[in-house]
Amino acid sequence: MEIAQGQGNMTNSQANIQGGALETAHAQFDRAVQILNLDVGLADLLKSAQRELTVNFPVKMDDGAVRRFTGYRVQHNASRGPNKGGIRFAPYVSLDEVRALAMWMTWKCAVVNIPYGGAKGGVICDPKQLSVRELEMVTRRYANEIAPITGPEVDIPAPDVGTTAQVMAWIMDAYSVRHGYAAPAVVTGKPLNIGGSAGRNEATGRGVMFTVREAYRVFGWRFDDVVVAVQGFGNAGTFTALAAHEMGCRVVAVSNSKGGIYNSRGLDIPRLLVHVREHGTLPGFDGADGVTNYELLALPCDVLAPCALENQLTHETAPSVQARLVAEGANGPTTPDADAILAEKNITVIPDILCNAGGVVVSYFEWVQGLQRMYWDEADVAQRLERIMIRSFWDVHENAVRRNLDLRTAALCLAITRVAEAMQIRGM
Ligand code: GLU
Repeated sequence: MEIAQGQGNMTNSQANIQGGALETAHAQFDRAVQILNLDVGLADLLKSAQRELTVNFPVKMDDGAVRRFTGYRVQHNASRGPNKGGIRFAPYVSLDEVRALAMWMTWKCAVVNIPYGGAKGGVICDPKQLSVRELEMVTRRYANEIAPITGPEVDIPAPDVGTTAQVMAWIMDAYSVRHGYAAPAVVTGKPLNIGGSAGRNEATGRGVMFTVREAYRVFGWRFDDVVVAVQGFGNAGTFTALAAHEMGCRVVAVSNSKGGIYNSRGLDIPRLLVHVREHGTLPGFDGADGVTNYELLALPCDVLAPCALENQLTHETAPSVQARLVAEGANGPTTPDADAILAEKNITVIPDILCNAGGVVVSYFEWVQGLQRMYWDEADVAQRLERIMIRSFWDVHENAVRRNLDLRTAALCLAITRVAEAMQIRGM
């Protein structure tokens, strides 16, 4: 199925509540460090990124004018393997946001125990306002600017908000032309015919739903006519909704940057995908009412899956959440004060670094396939993904039970311990 990559974008006004991601990442980290009783020096080291690059580069626009673009690549920690993480193209990108996202990638890769460190990149631009040629030029220039610190053994980018498989293809090409041979393992999330992996598009959403189903099993809830609301209809949101639908859940609401649609009887997601492909919008899908992105968060449902951007569940929106389970398809959708409110309301949160790790897990498969020049079929990818997500859910859950922690703190404790051990064993 052809679906644009990149997690769902919110509107500009919602983008304004961006920022704060780094505070969130730090607050979560501090809490875990306290529980782990981690060495102060080590904690101090892990709280900042190992390497940060800011680049400014020119692009000749279609009207002939030269415009300066600013981009970043932050490598948080490479103790467990090459740095790994997406690239975000959005007008609100900031160094602090990229820092937070890079740190979350380190923890995410450690939670699911794949041999990577964490990184993230971003370019301040609005890809929707660029022509295809301009987008290609921005991508190629950015790829060349970050080339000194990227490569198949060093740092491997992937799609994130505002970037696509096509963008990855240009990055691969920029690297391959420089080196004189096709280097598929330099990026993941590529198109299939140049070394992308079967099942990469679907991976994040499938992974989200594997963790949801496992949570139901662990908590002894019946996984039957589960009502799901999904915020965001980019890559993560789309495939979360589709996977939920395929698992027999009733997906009652989805949204994109302009707002959402709701039908308490459930939306036929495969038909909705056809509607979106034909009309480019959610509204007008038969039988559904309009909802705003904030109304969606408060809908009656069993599972709420925020799959768009950071800072969606806050002290303002969390009090009205009615779900029993929040499945974080996005990175950093919940602020620490919202975490406290949800806990008070007895709502379980499957944290981002576990819940949405399916994307980077299949990126890892794609990288391995690229290095070996040997490709797996989709059933193989899906099965291996399921195994890793289920095992990781149990690792986190057992840690939570043993230490009497919420799942987020348990996941962070597990991840930080793995990274700290890697650093100690290697010798600092
Ligand atoms: N951007 C995705 C994430 O935040 C995928 C990263 C990757 O595959 O490297 O997890």
